[in-house]
Amino acid sequence: MYFGIRSLIDETDIGSRFEFVPVDMRDTSAIHQAVSNAPTGLVWTETPSNPLIRVIDVNAACAIAHEAGALAVVDNTWATPLLQRPLELGADAVVHSATKYIGGHSDLMAGVVVVPPGSPLESALRMIQRHKGSIAAPFDCWLALRGLQTLPVRMQAHCAGALQVAEALTKHSSVEKVLYPGLSSDPGHALARRQMSGFGGMLSFIVRGGADAAMAVGTRLRLIVRATSLGGTHSLIEHRASVEGPKSMAPAGLLRVSVGLEHPQDIIDDLYQALSSIN
Ligand SMILES: *Cc1c(COP(=O)(O)O)cnc(C)c1O
Repeated sequence: MYFGIRSLIDETDIGSRFEFVPVDMRDTSAIHQAVSNAPTGLVWTETPSNPLIRVIDVNAACAIAHEAGALAVVDNTWATPLLQRPLELGADAVVHSATKYIGGHSDLMAGVVVVPPGSPLESALRMIQRHKGSIAAPFDCWLALRGLQTLPVRMQAHCAGALQVAEALTKHSSVEKVLYPGLSSDPGHALARRQMSGFGGMLSFIVRGGADAAMAVGTRLRLIVRATSLGGTHSLIEHRASVEGPKSMAPAGLLRVSVGLEHPQDIIDDLYQALSSIN
């Protein structure tokens, strides 16, 4: 899951107020097991996941949550509302980092919580906004709404670009593995086809040679920018293990790419020249 959630649990009061049980969400029997081991308030699903781009069955996760009397919440940041609609798959609430694809231009920090009409969560959330002041500034709302106007065409281009980049990366000898559900060889491909209307703009790949090789590729890129965040017009890359620090579970050689709106061949050329220079 998104590393920031782990930091919220480990480094703020949230961790002391609730008990957290990490579960491999690809394994529905593991989710069953976790919710039957202890009374469960909430089941959190993130799909596709960060940074291993694993696809989780939202319908199954929500059904298990509800059987256990828990709320089902889905972080839909990577898929966006265009590619995946978790409320229709049973979620009680959907969260988005609007900082990413919704804003779309790397110039906004905001978040969105979506609940179905008439949900009891709505009044609770509005109460928090009114009394605790967690509301977005008017200009940030304006930027988010401006981003939404181009979200459909941006997502089409992100998906098309990411597929081309993923396919090209599978052919490079310095690449051990490409993680992208749009590839028919990907373990999440069939589920993504059912659950999503596109495979998204995020992919990861594992460079042969571990952390040093991956870092070397990062430093040799000229077009793709090394930076955290994602979902903007410009392609970004990062070495997740370094960004996340010692507690990271990301493979050492993994680089995560947010495929931007540049010409896909320019992105591929940049990755190829960087990969070829490390041999
Ligand atoms: C970036 C991200 C977040 C956090 O969003 P911020 O707007 O940076 O707080 C949450 N979930 C996922 C999946 C993300 O990629």
